[in-house]
Amino acid sequence: MQINGYHRGYMGVFLRVNLNTKKIEVDNQYCQYDILRQFLGGKGLGSYILYNELKAGVNPLNSENKIILLTGPLTGTGVVTGSRLCLVSKGPATGYWLDTGTGGFFGSELKKAGYDGLILEGKAAEPVYLYIREGEVRILDAHRIWGLTIYETFRALKEIHGGKAHIGAIGPTGERGAKISSVIFDGRASGRGGMGSVFGSKNVKAIVVEKGKGKVLTYDPETLKVINKEVQDILLRSQVIKDMGNYGTASVLPMISEAEAWSVKNFQQGKLEGAELIYPEVFKRQIWEKHTACFACPIHCAQVGKISEGKWSETESEGLEFQTIWAFGPQCGVNDINAIIRADYLCDEYGLDTISTGNTIGFLMECFERGLLSLSDTDGVELRFGSGDALVRTVEKAGKGEGNLGELASNGVREAARKIGQGSENFAMHVKGLEISAYDPRRATGMALSYARADRGACHVRPGTHGVEILGMPKLIDAFTDEGKPEVVKRGTEMGNILWDSSGLCKFLAWGLAPQKALDLINAATGFQIDGMKEFSRMGERINNMIRLFNVREGMTADDDTLPHRLLKEAHKEGPAAGRVLEEKLIKMKKKYYEICGWDENGVPKEDKLRELGLYDLLH
Ligand code: SF4
Repeated sequence: MQINGYHRGYMGVFLRVNLNTKKIEVDNQYCQYDILRQFLGGKGLGSYILYNELKAGVNPLNSENKIILLTGPLTGTGVVTGSRLCLVSKGPATGYWLDTGTGGFFGSELKKAGYDGLILEGKAAEPVYLYIREGEVRILDAHRIWGLTIYETFRALKEIHGGKAHIGAIGPTGERGAKISSVIFDGRASGRGGMGSVFGSKNVKAIVVEKGKGKVLTYDPETLKVINKEVQDILLRSQVIKDMGNYGTASVLPMISEAEAWSVKNFQQGKLEGAELIYPEVFKRQIWEKHTACFACPIHCAQVGKISEGKWSETESEGLEFQTIWAFGPQCGVNDINAIIRADYLCDEYGLDTISTGNTIGFLMECFERGLLSLSDTDGVELRFGSGDALVRTVEKAGKGEGNLGELASNGVREAARKIGQGSENFAMHVKGLEISAYDPRRATGMALSYARADRGACHVRPGTHGVEILGMPKLIDAFTDEGKPEVVKRGTEMGNILWDSSGLCKFLAWGLAPQKALDLINAATGFQIDGMKEFSRMGERINNMIRLFNVREGMTADDDTLPHRLLKEAHKEGPAAGRVLEEKLIKMKKKYYEICGWDENGVPKEDKLRELGLYDLLH
């Protein structure tokens, strides 16, 4: 897209696809300098579009909901990790805002095909998939592939469109509306919040984009090249990034384990017996085959492994990462690496989010051990902590939607607790309906606030304060105090919103790169001349407020910004977090957080704040 004669990292074209009428049109109303300069792209631009286009109160699985796919200005430019695609919708797991991202090649190819993004609306009368290439967009019949697993779908569509086609698809779980279903793009999951079921509710099985010849033109390509080279050199020298290349995000697993900073057996303790059996060195020695990377990424953090012997031999897993190992390992009391890999593989095959699936199964195991579920409730599965067999059988049932256990395990922990009752709600570990991930906030206090008020429900990267509280990245701070944590959470949220979720860059760059360098890349690509980190952070704050307004309009109040009873009132019996609970600390941190955000006591942005961010005039 050119503005005042300059290219800006955007193609300047959005597609709008109406599935009711089958009308496909180019819609450029959001490709305007003023909007892009304020919201950049990805999640930021998605927040503006969804707020403006979605009526309040729409059922997420109703045809009135929309799915918006967005790239960022750096996606497809060739700069380091510039591969990201963001999906935005009203989320089925929470009933509030949902965005979920993915790397791989789909986003960069969508841009090379000529599009910054895509707005999907309505509902197709019959199963369909969308086919996109330069100058051609079609809605095609998906009867033949409806019901297939993810990898069966990929194979079938590649037979039709060739091996170089890039595909995002849902599995049987998304088709039947499971609340923890994902969309898989070329083997990479866009997992959280049930986006797969929104696709399913629209009868959309997949989106195919063919490799395009287009080029993403930028404002100052020479400067961009120089900064990109500097970034590459910084990454090559960084030990943290080297570890990422060797072990993926699992490189931090030993530190988290030794700090007892993760949930073991559904947040009942922090120590897993035999945790060394799932350390990344074991994976590397026994399972590892190769690593893969997203478009333009020298880090190649995705680890591919194959089980070579035993009952699950030949099971291959791509992208086994820290949160997945936690979800099927410590959360379920399991230290059998093969069972973890098998569970991960099944999730990818059927289209389930690994974090939510593992969290929910850990909860069901606790219910079984407490006698709240009987063998007949679990279809005969001895659902005990530590059993890799029970774990794998449950994931399989969740994938197939088989029996009572399959139903309980595939709709998330809030739904499961509603059905089981008997006080199980107290240890159903979710916030607003989204399952909590690995880090135990009683061991990293900032995570309590982070989980409680994150825009899409409990999320470990919005922001991940464990970085400073446990890993010491960039420097270690006191993990047990609540002092200063609201400020850490506010700043982390704003930077995450703009820097990683809206630009097209991968957030793992943060492990080795100062934000200023990323801002330099954005300025060189867009020519926006964002004036330093203060203004940049302000853009992230604008996005945070835009999404808060969306959520408030959907009925969110301060009461929603809370944690499960277990974290508020129950303490570990031993270990570093022994005796610690979060109720009082959360009240204090939340109050301070609302204050520094310029929100009232109900968590609603005040008029002054909206005026300061330029949102008041934009929305009134
Ligand atoms: S760091 Fe990993 S997830 Fe990020 S772009 Fe590179 S390969 Fe993809």
